[in-house]
Amino acid sequence: MEELLRLILILVAVWFIARALRRPNTRSGVSPRSATRNPPASSVPMLRCAHCGVYVPHDEAITAHGLTYCCREHASRGARR
Ligand SMILES: [Zn+2]
Repeated sequence: MEELLRLILILVAVWFIARALRRPNTRSGVSPRSATRNPPASSVPMLRCAHCGVYVPHDEAITAHGLTYCCREHASRGARR
């Protein structure tokens, strides 16, 4: 009998946790990822320069010929082989 009571308590606890985790998403109607318009610098995807291999933030990277570069100079030089 004691084990059954414990099982019920565990199920209730799990149900409460599941409900608490689900609540923020259902209230706002949007996922947390799309809600953040200006993510912090740490979450900005980093792209590797095809010439020197330096990682640059996505918004600062220069794209040329389907490759990403850290600056215009490296973009004009192209990928190092
Ligand atoms: Zn570079």
